[in-house]
Amino acid sequence: DARNGLLPYILNPASFSSDIVIQHNQNTVLIRDAFPKASVHLLLLPRDSTKWNINPRDAFDDEIFLAMVREEAAEALRLAASELLRLIGPHSESCKARIAAMESDDPPTELPTGRDFSKEFKVGIHAHPSMNHLHVHIISRDMYSDRLKHQKHYNSFNTDFFIPLADFPLAEGDVRRQTGYQNANLKKDYKCWRCGQGFANNFTALKAHLEEEYRAWRKE
Ligand code: 5GP
Ligand code: ZN
Repeated sequence: DARNGLLPYILNPASFSSDIVIQHNQNTVLIRDAFPKASVHLLLLPRDSTKWNINPRDAFDDEIFLAMVREEAAEALRLAASELLRLIGPHSESCKARIAAMESDDPPTELPTGRDFSKEFKVGIHAHPSMNHLHVHIISRDMYSDRLKHQKHYNSFNTDFFIPLADFPLAEGDVRRQTGYQNANLKKDYKCWRCGQGFANNFTALKAHLEEEYRAWRKE
């Protein structure tokens, strides 16, 4: 079953190349999403088998488990942020001065402040995942990827269908637990993540706009 495709990473992380499995410990495995929907897209996989098949909307009701995953996700976010720095830092006005200072022969003790790339990420889960084993997305906000091909690919990260890890545990009456509400989110008109412009259901127009926004965003 293709829906069990994340299990081998959980069971046997050491058998994968470091391009795919970035790091692992007793609690979690951090991997690269094989079909990234943005510039940097990682998945954090908790290894505790009692959580594998719980709907993620409910899995983090366990606060001890939630605290562990949060800690691991914070570490994963640091790695993801440094990856994004390497990727788009050279295009970023606010990074150029810092990079130049770092790479100079005689680096100053106090570097100019750079851009905080951890703020450019979303960390959370899909309300109805397509893959079976519990996984947390660590994804940069840009949605700039040739793997982004369908309405669901965009809306699942840019509506309430995406539930930030920071929002857990969800209140019992939280509307995001409702299947009907979440199915409607996937069908919503497109809205640019950066400027809020609407694109109705015109995916081609959205994609063209995402490219423009990506170029402006990486220059920040
Ligand atoms: P979901 O919608 O279930 O929250 O997201 C599952 C994610 O897993 C998707 O972003 C998809 O691209 C990714 N994915 C699916 N199959 C594989 C795989 O075999 N290996 C890796 N590394 N990622 C996968
Ligand atoms: Zn925009």
